[in-house]
Amino acid sequence: MLNDIQSNISTDTLLDTLKHHFGYSSFRTGQETIIQNLLSGKDSLVLMPTGGGKSMCYQLPAVLLPGVTIVVSPLIALMKDQVDGLLLQGINAAYINSSIDNAKITQIMQSAYQGNIKLLYIAPERLSSYYFVQEFMQLNISLFAIDEAHCISQWGHDFRPAYTKLNTIKQNFPSVPVMALTATADVTTRKDILSQLNLNQPYIHLDSFDRPNIRLTMAEKYNGEQQLVGYIKKRKDENGIIYCNSRWQVEKLAKYLAGAGINCAAYHAGMEVDIRNTIQDSFAKDNIQVVIATIAFGLGINKSNIRYVIHFEPPKTLESYYQEIGRAGRDGLDAEALFLYDSKDVDRIKKRISEGENEQRVNVELQRFQAMVGFVDAQTCRRQVVLNYFAEYTETRCGNCDICLDPPSLFDGSIAAQKVLSCVYRIQQQGDIEYVIDVLRGEHTIAIKQKKHDDVSTFGIGKDKTPGYWFAIIRQLIHLGYLQQDISQQSSLCLTEASRSVLKAEEALMLATPRLQNASYWKRQKVTQTYDRALFTKLRTLRKEIADAEDIPPFIVFSDATLSELAKVKPQNDHQMLTISGIGDTKLARYGHPFLELIQQHSG
Ligand code: ADP
Ligand code: ZN
Repeated sequence: MLNDIQSNISTDTLLDTLKHHFGYSSFRTGQETIIQNLLSGKDSLVLMPTGGGKSMCYQLPAVLLPGVTIVVSPLIALMKDQVDGLLLQGINAAYINSSIDNAKITQIMQSAYQGNIKLLYIAPERLSSYYFVQEFMQLNISLFAIDEAHCISQWGHDFRPAYTKLNTIKQNFPSVPVMALTATADVTTRKDILSQLNLNQPYIHLDSFDRPNIRLTMAEKYNGEQQLVGYIKKRKDENGIIYCNSRWQVEKLAKYLAGAGINCAAYHAGMEVDIRNTIQDSFAKDNIQVVIATIAFGLGINKSNIRYVIHFEPPKTLESYYQEIGRAGRDGLDAEALFLYDSKDVDRIKKRISEGENEQRVNVELQRFQAMVGFVDAQTCRRQVVLNYFAEYTETRCGNCDICLDPPSLFDGSIAAQKVLSCVYRIQQQGDIEYVIDVLRGEHTIAIKQKKHDDVSTFGIGKDKTPGYWFAIIRQLIHLGYLQQDISQQSSLCLTEASRSVLKAEEALMLATPRLQNASYWKRQKVTQTYDRALFTKLRTLRKEIADAEDIPPFIVFSDATLSELAKVKPQNDHQMLTISGIGDTKLARYGHPFLELIQQHSG
């Protein structure tokens, strides 16, 4: 069947379909070649970062090919969103998984036999069921698309046993092309996919894994919870995810943030599936602003308007870090990955890894974690460090990470250091970092009053600087050996032999200038947001009303990218509406009118 239409599809036809159904005027890098290879009947492996536009590589051919495209996908929530999205684009699609009853399945299959379904999403388990394989053999199948193909690899963190059964596809359907897609970059996984799926001389597309719209920001964690509250409150209408390593930490943080008036929810594997699904759904629908989660919250979030991902604790590998931050900014608009770093967390994780039973595994994990720590400690462009780790060497600095935007500089920190060290001396080495900062800043806390430290001569000598500033200075003094933390005494700060030379001011002590974190984020947003903010907010409200009425996530109606373009171009008629990226004929017919009216009202 495939051979009949191969090579007859011109670029123009592809572009027409792209505009008509999906509302886009051009392909992203790689998409067209991938599609052409597929249309010529070849197997393929597509490696693109999250948000790169993988789905298009099989959805568009599915529309053009005569039969049905079977999409294997690991998560129920994801299937529903994808199918809802396709229906809104005027493409007939359906899904079969455990949430669908038998009567409905029969109906769907019937529809598929009659050639009325272009894309059929299924869970991997179905392909190991004899019954389904027999049923599928009756269908005219154009293509198998294996989404999240890395789930096949036993070494990966998303391993799904049912995926290993997918090796039967090539046996049962030898003439149907198979396309495997993943955002996981490492070489072992890639090899596993190729060998287990038995792909036949596949076309391999390896995209750059760079996600330039995600700003990489590292900040010292000082009073982490308060830092989060400040950060989130500045981003009133924006959604984000905060990752922690343990369920305990997730619960604790969620309670704290809720107490501070933030609309948030906890999410981890210890919670009931129903509750987890409800949370994921509410988040997709913009009803929850922030989700605090363990890595269990990951696969299957295709919400395109997540504006930030925060790491409250360090992930164990750079792979997980990169995959987690990749959930931000899938619509291509500005997003930020904020990493709140505390060396205490690093020590704790190292200790936990070392306690493992299997020595070989411990070594591997320690090495991988060391790469993570190296990334944090880097004094060069963060993006270069992480892309180099994935063997994507680049010489150019990115201009969108904390190091590029605010390069570390040194200053003569002798006076600042003397203030800290003499304060530690005056309070007789009886306070931890936070306590010393309170004394320096002249805070009248209960503890300080009790110990009468509001009487010492150093009380309040550091009032002119923020707690974050002093935290950065003290951390450096610890790193450089001028202070020690006494673990046996509640982490009290103590002087060392070396402290003396600083106190006596024998030579200048050069320290890194503490950096004002996050200020730069807003600077850039102002420059790039050239659209009408007030109109954007109105459009956003309208989108939410429509989405709620139809019980679908707002980003499926229109992405943030589409809304911001509408707020910039302010189209006045249908023709102008169609020039907007993300608006095709079906969506125009369905939603064009209310949006057009709102824009006209606003302009008039
Ligand atoms: P992935 O599956 O690779 O994570 P998606 O397929 O979800 O990424 O695509 C990410 C976003 O990019 C979606 O909003 C999608 O509609 C959009 N997109 C895909 N192809 C194009 C294109 N050619 N032009 C503009 N936007 C596109
Ligand atoms: Zn950079």
